[in-house]
Amino acid sequence: MHSHSLDLKAITAEIAAEIAQATDRGRVADYIPALGAISPAHFGMAIVLADGTCHLAGDADVAFSIQSISKVFSLTMALGAVGDAIWKRVGREPSGSAFNSIIQLETERGIPRNPFINAGAIVVCDMLLGRYEPREAIGDMVRFVRSLADDGQSGDGDIVIDEHVARGEAETGFRNMALANYMRAFGNIHHPVEHTLGLYFHQCAIAMSCRQLALAGRYLMAGGRNPATGRSVVSAQRARRINALMLMCGHYDGSGEFAFRVGLPGKSGVGGGILAIAPGVASIAVWSPGLNERGNSQLGTLALERLVRKTGWSIFDPVP
Ligand code: GLN
Repeated sequence: MHSHSLDLKAITAEIAAEIAQATDRGRVADYIPALGAISPAHFGMAIVLADGTCHLAGDADVAFSIQSISKVFSLTMALGAVGDAIWKRVGREPSGSAFNSIIQLETERGIPRNPFINAGAIVVCDMLLGRYEPREAIGDMVRFVRSLADDGQSGDGDIVIDEHVARGEAETGFRNMALANYMRAFGNIHHPVEHTLGLYFHQCAIAMSCRQLALAGRYLMAGGRNPATGRSVVSAQRARRINALMLMCGHYDGSGEFAFRVGLPGKSGVGGGILAIAPGVASIAVWSPGLNERGNSQLGTLALERLVRKTGWSIFDPVP
């Protein structure tokens, strides 16, 4: 169905009303107090169409912790910085295991399955450090995300790192430290692990609203270009490949289920956000903090499932 023949205002309102009624809202991540304190009652949704039109529902302008959704942006930056050489140090296969699993690293000699599990994202951070100090690399990443979200009017300056969350990540990040050290033992982490993890913990702590996130995802719906400025963020081929990785690996061991129910490239985070891309059509962000047993937003997934059913936007729907 073509996006302009759809009543997206009514569709998003219907979805928000349904989600508001839901009683089983999943479990809010509580490994750090800053996330555990968030009410599961929140729901936000933002849809940015190819022509720039924006549809918002619920808490679409409330900032939340994007957590692992940041892995899409760091991968994009790393592809720009080091190009396809990154594939020597990280794979492109779904892992079928939890986001923070260490199991495969032993048999696969410190090469993570893909850039969206924690181990893979930590390697990507290690590449982004290059010759930078962690502080510079963190600043670079925030500027990059701001530039992606810039729509020339609403301003993006309020995309910041939540230092409270970043500190919590560092204080409780024992598994991530184990992953980084283990990969260092295989020679796949080149910097002191505290530096690499400093960047990783801070990228997890970026706070954005659904509106900002959907704006930031525009290049992935538009062949690698920011449709507002016409400027290329990545090549069309790389945008296609990032979408392929999001479809296959963006929800960890729940990626098959997400593809089955939603059928869009998507990346989740334990803050309860999901960025989903309908190539050529829309960049969509949803947020509901309660997670399912795989650590993906329970009602965010339901909202996207409803959206795709009402719009025919799944990549597996016949082209109109
Ligand atoms: N900060 C979390 C971690 O590293 C991010 C995981 C996620 O969002 N799935 O464990």
